[in-house]
Formats: sequence, C-alpha cells, structure tokens
Amino acid sequence: MPTEITVHGPITHGHDHTTVHCPTCHASHSHTVRGDLSDDTTPVTLTCVNGHNVPLPGTIDARELLFTAAMRAE
Ligand SMILES: [Zn+2]
Repeated sequence: MPTEITVHGPITHGHDHTTVHCPTCHASHSHTVRGDLSDDTTPVTLTCVNGHNVPLPGTIDARELLFTAAMRAE
C-alpha cells in the first residue's frame, strides 16, 4: 500500500550533516517522502514542500528514510 509521509525539519546526511535541499527552490525545512512500506519494488521518492522532486543523495538509503519517517509519524 503506497504511503506518503511528511517529514518536518531538515533531512541531514553524511558525516558533516549536510542538509538535503530542493534543487529547484532550495527548500530544506520540510519534505514529503513517498513509497510503499511493504513492497520494496516501489521506488521511494522525495519532494520538497513545494512539490518539486528532490533527488536523494547517494549516502541516504531511500527505504531507510521511508521507514524512519513512518516510525516518527506514528
Ligand atoms: Zn522545491
């Protein structure tokens, strides 16, 4: 079942806690992560607060991000 979770606050990654920014509008304070918790063939995507697609940095595991967001949202 596809799910959509709003992540409040910046998403950081890497040893220096780089913040994930939207490449279009540079928003970093809120994102929406979409995916399917029970189907790992569904790609996990990230959009900024304005609905732009935000590429996930290679250092972030997309499914891990989805599960973390789901746990926080509960
Ligand atoms: Zn944006």
